[in-house]
Amino acid sequence: MKETRGLIFDIKRFAIHDGPGIRTTIFFKGCPLECWWCANPEGQKKEHEEIISPFQLEENDECIKDVIGDEISSQEVIDEILKDRVFYEESNGGVTFSGGEPLMQPEFLQSLLALSKQEGIHTILDTSGYGTQSIFEKIVDDVDLFLYDLKLLDMEKHLKYTGVSTDLILQNLSFLVDKKQNIIIRIPIVPGITDSSANLNQIGKYLSELKSIIRVDILPYNKMSEAKYNRLGKTYKLSNIAPPSDERMSEIKNQLELFGLKVKIGG
Ligand code: SF4
Repeated sequence: MKETRGLIFDIKRFAIHDGPGIRTTIFFKGCPLECWWCANPEGQKKEHEEIISPFQLEENDECIKDVIGDEISSQEVIDEILKDRVFYEESNGGVTFSGGEPLMQPEFLQSLLALSKQEGIHTILDTSGYGTQSIFEKIVDDVDLFLYDLKLLDMEKHLKYTGVSTDLILQNLSFLVDKKQNIIIRIPIVPGITDSSANLNQIGKYLSELKSIIRVDILPYNKMSEAKYNRLGKTYKLSNIAPPSDERMSEIKNQLELFGLKVKIGG
């Protein structure tokens, strides 16, 4: 596999919420979606971009800006990943490719997956599912587990809140199910947007008919990224929405379990 270069915006070592065990998470820069609740708005644009530094304490201080995005080779990323091999082995962890959307840099992703597998590292792809099937065909054999987002099944609402339709996402999920891949579905629970009974029933029914879904993780929306939107000069559209309560998350878990699904709160 030839070495490639890609654009990332973070490497997180010792991650414990991005799949089983202790993991290194690689955050690819660029995403074809623009979800209103996105926790990583700095990962959406597929080019370098500026963000106001968190160290700018006063509004009137001279504007200090950081540049987001590091161009890096696949071998440099693998060298980072391998630093923690001993922790992966002890915890059944590995590497998670996340973002942004890794599928937007297919050659870079393919190279990283292949190099990770060569090194015997467990691989996870955390994806919105929004890419062509031909990309999935190229990478599928080198992914041990998919963390696959499902947000809304209603096409118009999906378009409104994410900027894209559900077509590719559902087609690719069927493709992975047919290939008997290991898949954990992740549903962001955003009050007033994804948490309606109608949406959850639609998703529950849809998933209950698919084989090879290991589990459904329901992820409570939080407001922790709001400050990042401001520093990027982006509008945060959910200022008035409060995170779901623990009771509401339990209700949703129960609702999805009625479809015979194994459901976990949190990632
Ligand atoms: S798919 Fe994920 S990374 Fe992309 S905009 Fe939505 S939440 Fe953000």
